[in-house]
Amino acid sequence: MERTVFFLDQKEMPTSWYNILPDLPEALPPYISPATGKLVTPQELGRIFPMELIKQEMSQERYIEIPEEIQAIYRTWRPSGLHRAFQLEKALKTPARIFYKYEGSSPAGSHKPNTAIPQAYYNMKEGVTRIATETGAGQWGSALSYSCSMFGIECKVYMVKVSYNQKPYRRILMETWGATCVPSPSTDTKAGRDALAKDPQSGGSLGLAISEAVEDAVTHENTHYSLGSVLNHVLLHQTIIGLESQKQMEMAGYYPDIVIGCVGGGSNFGGIAMPFLKDKISGKHKNIRCIAVEPMACPTLTKGHYEFDYGDVAGMAPICKMYTLGHNFMPAPVHAGGLRYHGMSPLVSLLYKLKLIEAKAVFQRPTFEAGVLFARTEGILPAPESNHAIRVAIDEALACKATGEAKTILFNLSGHGHFDLASYEEYHSGRLPDYEYPDEKVKEALKTLPKVSL
Ligand SMILES: *Cc1c(COP(=O)(O)O)cnc(C)c1O
Repeated sequence: MERTVFFLDQKEMPTSWYNILPDLPEALPPYISPATGKLVTPQELGRIFPMELIKQEMSQERYIEIPEEIQAIYRTWRPSGLHRAFQLEKALKTPARIFYKYEGSSPAGSHKPNTAIPQAYYNMKEGVTRIATETGAGQWGSALSYSCSMFGIECKVYMVKVSYNQKPYRRILMETWGATCVPSPSTDTKAGRDALAKDPQSGGSLGLAISEAVEDAVTHENTHYSLGSVLNHVLLHQTIIGLESQKQMEMAGYYPDIVIGCVGGGSNFGGIAMPFLKDKISGKHKNIRCIAVEPMACPTLTKGHYEFDYGDVAGMAPICKMYTLGHNFMPAPVHAGGLRYHGMSPLVSLLYKLKLIEAKAVFQRPTFEAGVLFARTEGILPAPESNHAIRVAIDEALACKATGEAKTILFNLSGHGHFDLASYEEYHSGRLPDYEYPDEKVKEALKTLPKVSL
């Protein structure tokens, strides 16, 4: 009998996260304060983040221990399963071996609680009683609401208005976990009121919702801000995905030739890829390929520029060097597949600039086609974001079929799609168009970059 799922015993769950910072061949550019235009100070960051996370953000320690209280909650769903996609391989008639790490078994249905839990924990340890955040379609908002409820913290979520109106189920999930969720732009902040004054019909954006949440944090007592992707400490927490995968691939008896993840802000991709990139950088497995997959509608790595840019619309969040489409980026309303952030994790950006990883942009219809084939063979209904990774995993498996190579492909199935059925319905009914972000808009956006002198 061939094994289909590789489960680790709970005793074998990693007890440290992997920090890639000390292993990078080139130092990561620093964060810049939007207020001073100079290097951001830990004191400035301390207004919105707990000190332990700020330390992790800049740490040169290769491994950072996971506190027992966090491990205890991780064990609600971790270690997560690593599956061999036998039925998908058979349908594709490929000699390639396809594996996927399934992160949809968490309470919120994605990888996001891997960082939401430690973030809520470290805030609780510092006596923070309230956290403000933003959410697009609601994945991050629900992960943080769940995590705050685990540690008795109040949670306020600014949800991008188009999603708030179109996708009520994740809002209800957040409210069930005790959070307060308002549509962004809201009247609760100056950033929101300014945006509404300019355009009362504004559907909002992730960059604007971040401005609202940061403003909320700095103007409320005992309140911090929390970000679900992009930052180093978020990617650090997500490395538990890759660390578990390495143990499970060893159980399976293979080492991956290709590791694939979708990228919005870069956290699930960074989380699965970075432990493998350690082996690439050290020369132990120097031929391993790691591929970040993004939508054609938000092609940050493949069309954006590697520059210092604001993390949000109002210029309140730290400025960082990253691939960016410009902080005023507005996603096309026709794009259903998530992954709509204008920037990219500075770590993933640097890895891409150094050519340690590759990037591919894909149209949304072929991603849904891949997701439907996956559902019909492997059974699990993927999140639209995860469909981007599946698309490229399938493309690589088909390339193996053409050449007759039996490569080992590992991708991260970052979440399930049970709350995204409306997007699947649009796809089934043929109403989902393909959209490519125009080059002129990328050029225009570059005029709005902040001036940074180091
Ligand atoms: C949020 C999310 C993503 C994108 O965010 P990253 O930080 O790039 O991982 C991908 N997949 C799912 C299921 C998500 O919820």
